Amino acid sequence: MRKKSLFQTATRIAAAAVAAFALSGLAATAARADELAKDLFGAQKLPAATTPHSYGFYSKGCFSGGVAIATDGPTWQAMRLSRNRRWGHPTMIRLIEKLSHDAVADGWPGLLVGDISQPRGGPMLTGHASHQIGLDADIWFTPMPDHRLTPVERENMSATSLVNEKTHLVIDKLWSPAHERLLKRAASYPEVERILVNPGIKKKLCDTVKGDRTWLRKIRPFWGHDYHFHVRIGCQPGSVGCKAQESTPAGDGCDKSLAWWFTEEPWRPNKNPDAPKARDVMTMASLPKECRAVLNAPSPQSEAAVTMGDTGGSGVATTKPDAAKPTIDVGEPPVPANAFAPTPIKRPPLPLPKPSR
Ligand SMILES: [Zn+2]
Repeated sequence: MRKKSLFQTATRIAAAAVAAFALSGLAATAARADELAKDLFGAQKLPAATTPHSYGFYSKGCFSGGVAIATDGPTWQAMRLSRNRRWGHPTMIRLIEKLSHDAVADGWPGLLVGDISQPRGGPMLTGHASHQIGLDADIWFTPMPDHRLTPVERENMSATSLVNEKTHLVIDKLWSPAHERLLKRAASYPEVERILVNPGIKKKLCDTVKGDRTWLRKIRPFWGHDYHFHVRIGCQPGSVGCKAQESTPAGDGCDKSLAWWFTEEPWRPNKNPDAPKARDVMTMASLPKECRAVLNAPSPQSEAAVTMGDTGGSGVATTKPDAAKPTIDVGEPPVPANAFAPTPIKRPPLPLPKPSR
C-alpha cells in the first residue's frame, strides 16, 4: 500500500512536471503574444532583409524589405534623424525622391522629409497611428533651406503651422502658389492614393485651384497636418495580405464633408482623454501573424547597403560614411539595394538585440 502510494506520488509528480513544462511553453508563447508590438518594433535598428512586402493595414501592420532614404540628397534633407524613421517600401522611397526632383523642377527649393516608417514598420513608441507598413510619408511644408542642416538643427528646427488654430483657416501670408503646385505634383503620381492635409489647407485649395481640379479628390482633410502633408501610396504588387484602404469618394471633396470640419463637432474635447491609444496597447497577437517573422528575419549587413540615394532608385547606395559614425562593414563592398531582390546575406545573421521594454 505504502509502496503503491509512493509510486503514485512519483507518477503524479512526473505528470505534474510534464504539465508544468508544457504550460511553461504555453505561458512563454502567450507572454510573447502579449508583448507590446511598439516595444518590439520600436527597438529595431535595421529592416528585415527579405523581399519588400507590406502586411496588414496602415495603422496595424508591419513590412519587410524596407530601404532608407539617404539623409541628404540634392533635392531633399531628412529631418529628426534620431527617430530612425527614414524607412519605407522601396516604391515609397523612390516616390519621395521623384517628388523631390519634380518639385525642384516646379520651383520648390527641395523637400524636408519627415517620418516615413520604422525599419520594420509596426506601431511606434510615440506619434503616428499609421505609418506602419512602409507606405506613408510626411513631407514638411517648410521649403528646404539653401544649406545643409546640421544633425542638431534637424532635431530642433521647429516647423511652422500654415493654419490658424482658432479659425482652422490657412494663414494667407504663409501660403503661396508653390504650395499648391507641390501638392498637385504629389497627387499626380498614380501610386499616391491619398494626401492628408489640415482641413484649412484643403479649403484653401478648394477655394483657389483653377483649371484641372480632379487631383483634389486625393487631397483629404484630417486633424493635424498643418506643418506637413502626409503622402499615402496603395498596397504594392506582391504584397498579399496588405489591406487596401477604402477608395476616396468621387468628386473634389469641396462639399459637405469639408464643411463639417468648419463646425464645432470635430474640435470638441475628447470625452475620454485618458483612454489609451491603439498603438499603446497593440500586442503582437493583434498584428498579422507574418509580423512575428518580420521581427525575427535577419538584418542586412549595414544601413548603407539598404539606403537609397539620389540615383532615382537605381540601387547604388550613396550615403557617405559619416566621420562621427563609422560604418559597420569595413572592407566589404556595399550590396546593391535592389528593391525587388532579396538582399544577399554574406554571413550568418547575428542574433537580434534583445528588445528593450
Ligand atoms: Zn503622417
